[in-house]
Amino acid sequence: MMSLRRLLSPPSKTRKRRILGGDRNYKKSNAITTLEFGISKEAQYLAQTLLESSSEEARQKIGDALLDELADLAGVDIVRLKISSAHQYHKKRNGRVVYKQYGYYKPGTKYIYINNRTAVRGQIIAPKTFLDTLLHEWMHHYDHVKLGLNSIHTSGFYERIRDLKYKLNSAGL
Ligand SMILES: [Zn+2]
Repeated sequence: MMSLRRLLSPPSKTRKRRILGGDRNYKKSNAITTLEFGISKEAQYLAQTLLESSSEEARQKIGDALLDELADLAGVDIVRLKISSAHQYHKKRNGRVVYKQYGYYKPGTKYIYINNRTAVRGQIIAPKTFLDTLLHEWMHHYDHVKLGLNSIHTSGFYERIRDLKYKLNSAGL
C-alpha cells in the first residue's frame, strides 16, 4: 500500500515489535536490495510515456502495457491495473488530511488499484505520483509471487523500488 501518513503519534509498541521482530520474513525482505532481472528498452519507453500522460484512458493503456512488460522480464504472473476516478481514500482530523491512500495491491486479487484523483480537490494526480504508485504496488506483487514474502515496507523493499526506478531511467541509454 502506498500512502502518506503524517504520524501524529509514534507507532504503537505492538506494531513496532511486529515489524522489527527480526523474523525471517523481515530479514529476507531487508536483505534483497536489487532486482535479479534486467529492464528492456520497451519498459523504459513505457515508463517515460507514462510520465507524459494524464488521462485515465492513456494511463490505463500504458500502465497495463508496462505491467505486462515487467511481468515478462521478471518471469512472474501478470497483474492488471484498475484505475479509479474517485477521489483518493483519505482521513481527516481537525480539518487536516492526516492519511491518504494512492493505491493498493492485495495478493491474490491480481489487480493493482490506483486512484487517479487527489483526495480533497479531486485533481488528476501528477504523472510522477502515478508512476511511483504503480511501481510501489508492483513491488508488493513481485515480493509476493517471486520472493515469497509477506510484502512489508522494509528498507530493502524501498531499495528494490529504487533499483527498479534507476534501471527504468538509465539502463541501456
Ligand atoms: Zn506499500
